[in-house]
Amino acid sequence: KAITADEIRQTVKDENVLFLRLMFTDINGIIKNVEVPISQLEKVLNNKITFDGSSIDGFVRIEESDMLLYPDLNTWLLFPWENDHGKIARLICSVHRPDGTPFGGDPRNNLIRVVNEMKEAGFTAFNIGPEPEFFLFKLDENGNPTTKLNDHGSYFDFAPLDMGENCRRDIVLELEKMGFEVEASHHEVAPGQHEIDFKYADALEAADNIQTFKLVVKTIARKHGLYATFMPKPLHGINGSGMHINMSLFHDKGNAFYDPNTDDQLSETAMHFLAGVLRHAYALTAVNNPTVNSYKRLVPGFEAPVYVAWSGKNRSPLIRVPQSRGLSTRLELRSVDPTANPYLAIAAILQAGLDGVKNKLKPEEAVDRNIYRMQDDERKANHIQDLPSTLHNALKALAADDVVKAALGEHLYQSFMDSKNLEWSAYRQQVSEWERQQYLELY
Ligand code: GLN
Ligand code: MG
Ligand code: MG
Ligand code: MG
Repeated sequence: KAITADEIRQTVKDENVLFLRLMFTDINGIIKNVEVPISQLEKVLNNKITFDGSSIDGFVRIEESDMLLYPDLNTWLLFPWENDHGKIARLICSVHRPDGTPFGGDPRNNLIRVVNEMKEAGFTAFNIGPEPEFFLFKLDENGNPTTKLNDHGSYFDFAPLDMGENCRRDIVLELEKMGFEVEASHHEVAPGQHEIDFKYADALEAADNIQTFKLVVKTIARKHGLYATFMPKPLHGINGSGMHINMSLFHDKGNAFYDPNTDDQLSETAMHFLAGVLRHAYALTAVNNPTVNSYKRLVPGFEAPVYVAWSGKNRSPLIRVPQSRGLSTRLELRSVDPTANPYLAIAAILQAGLDGVKNKLKPEEAVDRNIYRMQDDERKANHIQDLPSTLHNALKALAADDVVKAALGEHLYQSFMDSKNLEWSAYRQQVSEWERQQYLELY
């Protein structure tokens, strides 16, 4: 269902749209937008809106700063929430250079590039079903976020309404108004923690959806006097928030991961793809878990993966193969967290998997036991490695992995590294309360 410029012009009239938000994503996965009044519609539709790229993280230097926004008309959407000034619509854009060529520092352009490589390799779609988790925290009297949970200790009250549940339902309703097909929504294991799963889509649309999803969650939470955060580990001692990625590769004949004629009904392509993701797991972690805080989630005891392994049965490994077969045959990568830039993460996972397909890699045996309960030497005997334990280690692995580097392209790789090395360097110079408690009086 491709949307035309004329259809957009018509909707603008019919719905009295007054503002347009032109959205794109920076290197850190943060959504940026320029808002233009509807008088600029023709300029927008003709790819004539410029902005200063030098102020966006990971974009360009001052000398080459004029960038153009090319809207993807298929991302046209009216925000359903009411506004005093009339309706607001959005378009997600790709960033182009002044001469019209796609800009290599735009994560969305880069994903389009990697998807095209996938098509050259004979596949038609890389379907992604994300499972984003988030916390809802209370706002203080000035409207600033706190780390006070809103459904903490509510077990004993007979409160008529759980603020969190109500807010989550509202989020689901708004998402549905915006065309999302929400498959499930539930309270997660930790207090104040929630998950909303929506229907899979092809790589680019899935990444766009993840960005829109975060925006909706944050906006609606505010309306409930709450703050939604996708920070991976906001509180010590309880589960963190992940964003499991369910994935399958499609070709003309359907799901390329499904083969009714093998023992486990997984195709050779599925096994090669799985092996590719496992081989590059170390470097992928930098992209899928890109913050200092991400590594506080990837520790034993909180349902997040710590070891590089796969299983069809239990949920402790990095990759799980859910039981469903046929069209929904898929791999579930459990390490990804919601701070990952979805355009970069999906491009990197796809490239890693395709590397496995191209080189016909074979994965190690599945590990169907709880890896956390194994002894170190047992894990060693089963060739089970740890995931990187810090952002620093993950970045070193990325620098050494040509396949994952190629998935980002030169510009993005460089700005990702620069930005993340700075982050690591700033973090490692901090002295925390934990250290003072440990050492101040002891030494
Ligand atoms: N919150 C867990 C994580 O960090 C996942 C819990 C679950 O979905 N089973 O990945
Ligand atoms: Mg889930
Ligand atoms: Mg979950
Ligand atoms: Mg899951």
